Amino acid sequence: MPLLLTNATFIDWQSLTFTQTHLLVEDGEDGNVKFVGDISLYPDCQIIDCTGKLVTKSFAVGHHHAYSAMAKGMPAPKKNPENFHEILQYVWWNLDKCLDKETIEYSALITAMACARAGSTFVIDHHASPNYIKGSLEIMAKAFEKVGIGHLLCYEITDRDGIEKAGQGLDETAGYLQNHQGLVGLHASFTVGDNTLKNSVTLANQFDTGIHIHVAEDLYDQIHCEKTWHKRVVQRLADAGAMESSKSLLVHCLHLDENERRLIESSPLWLVQNAESNMNNNVGYFNGSGLGERILFGTDGMHSDILQSAKAAFFVGQRFDNITYPSSYQRFRNVHHYLRSNNFSGDRDNNLVVLDYRSGTEINQNNFLGHFIFGINATHITDVISQGKLIVKNREIQTVNEAEILRESIIHASNLWDRMRR
Ligand SMILES: [Zn+2]
Repeated sequence: MPLLLTNATFIDWQSLTFTQTHLLVEDGEDGNVKFVGDISLYPDCQIIDCTGKLVTKSFAVGHHHAYSAMAKGMPAPKKNPENFHEILQYVWWNLDKCLDKETIEYSALITAMACARAGSTFVIDHHASPNYIKGSLEIMAKAFEKVGIGHLLCYEITDRDGIEKAGQGLDETAGYLQNHQGLVGLHASFTVGDNTLKNSVTLANQFDTGIHIHVAEDLYDQIHCEKTWHKRVVQRLADAGAMESSKSLLVHCLHLDENERRLIESSPLWLVQNAESNMNNNVGYFNGSGLGERILFGTDGMHSDILQSAKAAFFVGQRFDNITYPSSYQRFRNVHHYLRSNNFSGDRDNNLVVLDYRSGTEINQNNFLGHFIFGINATHITDVISQGKLIVKNREIQTVNEAEILRESIIHASNLWDRMRR
């Protein structure tokens, strides 16, 4: 049954124009919305009364790690990490090695539900589970789809656990890309040898897709690259042919020199900024100068609230970046341009959020961005429509039994934490 949102204040996500209207929402992967005058012409619709509420395009996360969802509240690692490499070694590479079929599935389910609640209907994810590689992406895709979240997935290919595991990562990617839209994931330059890099670029070209890789997140990535390959990370990627697709995503990009900035600016690819993760890992600050406009926001697995990530980038950017209200909003929405211009499915106009935002000051096209930074947050989201389907209604997930999944997830997470202590 098509959805009809009645008496909405609709905000166009690009022009920020406000329109009082009813909205007919088409069902399907790439559906549209239509402004409707007389609702009596559409008797067979499910009606959502949006009186007094704002309706706009839903959000999307540009870089996520669903596999890290069970880290919240877990016991401290065996050693307190003192630098970025130790954070990977003692926290994330311990966690991802302990993931099995159930924990991959439930991590994806609880991530998808958290995304839905926070207004995101599409997730670009970077997955790692070195001891359960084969079939892992399919498990995640199914979990996201169960909740009703669109996705662009990849497996994190890396040599960190040896060439055999790198081969399994390549095989998993190739198998998945036969039947799904997705990317070719690479961990980072410092864990990817030349052969694996070459094979990954070949695979991406074969499936006409992009590379999704962490770049210069910590200075260590550059130091390692210069010592091992006598060049900087972005130059290494450029030399390997990994910078030529508009589908490619370079994540973080904190420690870049002028030449690397020029290489990125003149390439068709996109960057993903993860301000909160960078602060949490104490690795540095993103500065977009000289990098062009193709910048998205990600949560880097810390949480699923991309609106919060946009605000964090704005605040930290007051000192370390040249970020304004419009450029913050632009980066927040660029993920839609990235997905559309590259013909990825699942993020068209029939993805919407309904906000119960009660402001004591006027809100309109001209001052919307002030409300975007300082007013609107995920607690205002009452309903979420993904690909024309109502997946959150009155703040309750509609597609799956949330309480049951959370109960099960707690058991799986506790088993995961036990395995991590061994
Ligand atoms: Zn990441």
